[in-house]
Amino acid sequence: MGSPPGHPLSDTLATHIRNLIGKDGGSIPSSMHHGCTDCTHLKRFPADLVEEGFDTVRESDSVVSLGDTNEVVADSTLNTPNPTLNNAVPSSFLNGPPPNVDVLEPGGPRGYVRLAVMDGKSIGHRICAIDECTAPLVNFKNGRFCKDHIVHYSSICGIIPCGQPVHTPGALTCDNPSHKSWYQAYSQRFKTPHLSGVQRVMRKQKDTNGNSSIGQRSHTFQVDLPPLEGNGPDERVVHTFRAQTERKPTQVLSIIDHIWEQYPSFRPGFLAYDDACDLLRHIVTQDSQSPWLTSTKFIVDTWHYIGHRATDVLCRLWCNPAPTDGSQPDLVRILEDGNGVKHTTRAFNLETAEQLNAWLNGYEAQLRQMTDVMFDFHCHVLMMLYTEITTKRIEKKGKELDDDFWEEAIGS
Ligand SMILES: [Zn+2]
Ligand SMILES: [Zn+2]
Ligand SMILES: [Zn+2]
Ligand SMILES: [Zn+2]
Repeated sequence: MGSPPGHPLSDTLATHIRNLIGKDGGSIPSSMHHGCTDCTHLKRFPADLVEEGFDTVRESDSVVSLGDTNEVVADSTLNTPNPTLNNAVPSSFLNGPPPNVDVLEPGGPRGYVRLAVMDGKSIGHRICAIDECTAPLVNFKNGRFCKDHIVHYSSICGIIPCGQPVHTPGALTCDNPSHKSWYQAYSQRFKTPHLSGVQRVMRKQKDTNGNSSIGQRSHTFQVDLPPLEGNGPDERVVHTFRAQTERKPTQVLSIIDHIWEQYPSFRPGFLAYDDACDLLRHIVTQDSQSPWLTSTKFIVDTWHYIGHRATDVLCRLWCNPAPTDGSQPDLVRILEDGNGVKHTTRAFNLETAEQLNAWLNGYEAQLRQMTDVMFDFHCHVLMMLYTEITTKRIEKKGKELDDDFWEEAIGS
């Protein structure tokens, strides 16, 4: 790590290796076969919930469980979706997933489900600030544009579509006072520790069982910026003030397509992702026959769900991380506390993503300044290391899937 950028030997090596692992991607083949007691569970059926004391009468309205506190919040927003967010979604998706009618065959294998966690963390090497451009930056230290856009866009106002020349060389806006002041408000926002502070506080809220909650992403706490003169109050200001990181649903879909390209049958039954509903929306509007729609349920985190279910029908119907209406026996367990009171709890613990994040944070500063080639190379090495660390940790904690598990799951 830390070799000076542009060293010809290390550049050649990294380029060569990146050609092998793939541009902007790469996966660790052995991880396709990963399974542990955290992410891989025996398949559950509606009858299992009933056996645990699930009360279909009490729970039959659609509610969301705040898994960490076992608090259950009634969904009073059930009939108030905002259709404007779902215009392009084929109507067949607006009724929610088909009811779960699986029945366990007596004596037959149970099957198993796996949940993959994808994190919105984007250390990703940054890309051109122009909205529709995904090209790498010319200058990875503090640049904003790719080689095709740098000359033109560096000299004009960063507010799109203003197009006026910048007021002084190196400035980011023209001399329009409202453009200047909007930029000022924008840059102030990123100087304050506001967001990370919220995240830290939220992350401290662990439940009494020691489970880390899966929610707690900053995006529920949108940063308020003043409206730009001439724009509507809800209109997004398009600007080039900052290089983009790669997190558009189009890109996320190509990332997951790429990861599972060679292993279609290893697609996880559940994919937890803090922006899963936008990813799902992108998939259903692009290709309503996409194999992802039958292989995988896309679930969001609890905090996202609470904030979004009122306005987004696709999110509410498809992405509930712990529906307590009995529709997803794989996602919830009914547990009894010391007083004999039954609680709906989350079946999967998603702490893994937090651990990987914490570990990656240590490398973030270095990664952010790398060229796209070096970035891909280093990420791949880091993921290989992390795979090894994880395998050892699973062994140490006795979280391997044992013969009994496989006997029950697949009958061999
Ligand atoms: Zn696992
Ligand atoms: Zn560009
Ligand atoms: Zn301007
Ligand atoms: Zn959502």
